[in-house]
Amino acid sequence: MPDEGKPSAKREKKVHKREKKQRTGRKHESKKAWEMYEVSGSEVKRKKPFCPRCGPGAFLSVHKNRKYCGKCGYTEIQKKPAEPGEEKAGS
Ligand SMILES: [Zn+2]
Repeated sequence: MPDEGKPSAKREKKVHKREKKQRTGRKHESKKAWEMYEVSGSEVKRKKPFCPRCGPGAFLSVHKNRKYCGKCGYTEIQKKPAEPGEEKAGS
């Protein structure tokens, strides 16, 4: 906007010259709830476990060795049991 010394006396209409700026940045991506489910036949399987704190509706995000609730911050750490199938064949 050009900066004029005197503000114009009377304006009947205020014209918004500026258009809405499109915000650049990340859009909030909503988790697709339907991707959490898997329908097999007449059964619905939940792919991810629910948060014990938030109850059903809040999914835990499953990581390598832990589950995390983004809602309340609940973390469930899973200790990896010793894998029995790990055999080393000596050569
Ligand atoms: Zn939770």
